[in-house]
Amino acid sequence: MVNYNTLTQQILTLAPNFGFLDAGVANIDIATETKNNFNTWLKQKFHGEMSYLARNTDLRFNPDKLQANTLSIISVKLPYNNLNIESLKDKLHQPHLANIASYAQGRDYHKVLKQKLNLYATAINELLVSYNMQMHYRSFTDSAPILEVELAAKSGLGWRGKNTLLINKNQGSMFFLGEIFTNLPLIPTPKISNHCGTCSKCIDICPTKAIIAPYILDATKCISYLTIEFKGTIPVPLRKLIGNRIYGCDDCQTFCPWNKFSQKTEVSDFKTREFINDLTLVDAFLIEKDAWEKIMQGSAILRIGYECWLRNVAIALGNSPANTKTIAALKSRLNYPSNLVTEHIKWALEQLV
Ligand code: SF4
Repeated sequence: MVNYNTLTQQILTLAPNFGFLDAGVANIDIATETKNNFNTWLKQKFHGEMSYLARNTDLRFNPDKLQANTLSIISVKLPYNNLNIESLKDKLHQPHLANIASYAQGRDYHKVLKQKLNLYATAINELLVSYNMQMHYRSFTDSAPILEVELAAKSGLGWRGKNTLLINKNQGSMFFLGEIFTNLPLIPTPKISNHCGTCSKCIDICPTKAIIAPYILDATKCISYLTIEFKGTIPVPLRKLIGNRIYGCDDCQTFCPWNKFSQKTEVSDFKTREFINDLTLVDAFLIEKDAWEKIMQGSAILRIGYECWLRNVAIALGNSPANTKTIAALKSRLNYPSNLVTEHIKWALEQLV
């Protein structure tokens, strides 16, 4: 007779061997309240153009439909930040520099995390040999319709903060989440309580006021959505508020008091790329397409495409101090064959001259 309490603990103990901060287990039941909140959020169109979020809600709410015979979900956390929290904040006050979200400064995490999850799953199966068992599993890295923050919170890896991210008292929130769906009937690990309390720093600090109420994000106002997911013309009233953030935004995390305790990554693939380190907006804007595509190989940034890169940098240049170099850089690309790019360049020039 298998003692699943013991087996669950043995499985969780293996997680740090693969660089994970820790691991937790949840069953596959998604609370009705969670489903209702998600559906209400969709109805309010807060997901913007991320139409994939509105598809496959049946799979999202029923993990065993996504992977047949799933009984338990093992969630893990992998830290990604390799910089000091204070240095991330400092960059906001250096308007000539390109500000890129911490998670995107190194290699695209999908492959790195998937590889680690699969190594972890292999180790679990090696452990199961002594039980004369084998698990069937599938690993996920933000690659399928999964309520990953909900599942991680259910498994006690943290609580869902007012900024909607998973937070842990000892580890902050600057980590990726990954999941192993398994057919093992593991014992769920206990939930932990919410420690946001009366704090509202993330809501107050958000440059575009995208956290419209505690635990509710209007993604259409979020700088991460606008600079990464959204491919169109960025609404004029939001442009000034974007500042020098050209790819994503960390503010609701860096100003969250619990990130004083965030753990730095030990994954060398997540180290800041040389090109990104102290990249000036002018250099970011003048790099040619071929060179940009070459330099961004293996980075998540490549996925927004060169056109959106120029759009984002043009806005940041429009928010930077006016000088001859900045204005010359913007003017040099006025004939770029994209209405999207030229429209943002014109806006930027209007701010500077
Ligand atoms: S900043 Fe404060 S309210 Fe926001 S997630 Fe962190 S602890 Fe919670």
